[in-house]
Amino acid sequence: MDLTLLERRIAELGEPSYRVRQVWEWTARGASGYDAMTNVPRPLRDALAGEVPFSTLEPETEQRARDGTVKTLFRTHDGHPVEAVLMRYRDGRRSVCISSQSGCPLTCTFCATGRMAFGRNLTAWEILDQVLHFRRTQAVDHVVFMGMGEPFMNVDNVLAAARRLPDAGVTHRRTTISTVGWMPGLRRFVDEISEPIRLALSLHAADPALRSELMPVNDRYPLNEVLALCRTHFERTNRRVFVEYVMLAGVNDSPAQARLLAGLLGGGAFKVNLIPYNPTGMYDGSSRDAIAAFKVELDRARVPATVRLTRGRDIAAACGQLAAAPRARTRVRA
Ligand code: SAH
Repeated sequence: MDLTLLERRIAELGEPSYRVRQVWEWTARGASGYDAMTNVPRPLRDALAGEVPFSTLEPETEQRARDGTVKTLFRTHDGHPVEAVLMRYRDGRRSVCISSQSGCPLTCTFCATGRMAFGRNLTAWEILDQVLHFRRTQAVDHVVFMGMGEPFMNVDNVLAAARRLPDAGVTHRRTTISTVGWMPGLRRFVDEISEPIRLALSLHAADPALRSELMPVNDRYPLNEVLALCRTHFERTNRRVFVEYVMLAGVNDSPAQARLLAGLLGGGAFKVNLIPYNPTGMYDGSSRDAIAAFKVELDRARVPATVRLTRGRDIAAACGQLAAAPRARTRVRA
């Protein structure tokens, strides 16, 4: 729901501003439409239903993986594709992975999103509506900004959305924003955020030359400056920064490379998430043994590390696999 539009319409209709809060509370708690908002007068509900779309996103297709993961493809009102993924865990946790942009302008070699056309930044409302879509059928307790796009290239809208997530039942402690290390946005996040939102950094190679090869953005924002900002976030919020490291066979997965990584991450501010590579056509994933041997080196250096559980691979819903095919557009001629 576009709250800016809602505020404007409610003011134009001469309604008191507390109506905005009422409508938003219903929406954030998972109401299915204006009809459910029983404390809002019927004529106002009818007027809003015609003028303020209940969601800024139109669900287009939904796919279900064998492990219960659900991927939904949405369209913005101007036709841009957006994907979001709901992950369900045995312990009852429900986590939604959301997109901050349609596509992504960065070109990390292992990630499928970078290969689709970049559309635009999503608005705060388009970001929140991905969560609310799933919230309408079940409680959601975790949100990760790990879908399409680089959140800190769209920092205003991402922070505005993140700050409203508690209204939808997702606390700041259960919110994670993942970045390649896009410095301008990261600096704003670190300086502005006092809420205990988790930060995750996509690192993938400790050696600068290799990191630049995998993630061209590394030439622009060197890793040591990025890591210094991450440490500041840890000092201010006491929340460890998660380091994401996708395991590519013969590329970044040797024990020597693990030691190099451990050398960068000393001091207790970081926890490493080793991510099995999800096929996108470019690389081979590291073997289980290679991942285990890599982890042994981190353990030895007392850098905490876990191996990420892969979800939704069979429907291309896993990390790095989100890439909507362009839709054939019909042109209307005058
Ligand atoms: N642009 C942000 C947000 C996306 S997060 C970022 O990169 O952090 C998506 C995560 O999935 C990132 O850590 C990314 O590096 C990782 N990833 C990308 N492609 C992958 C692949 N093929 N297999 C496993 N992880 C991948």
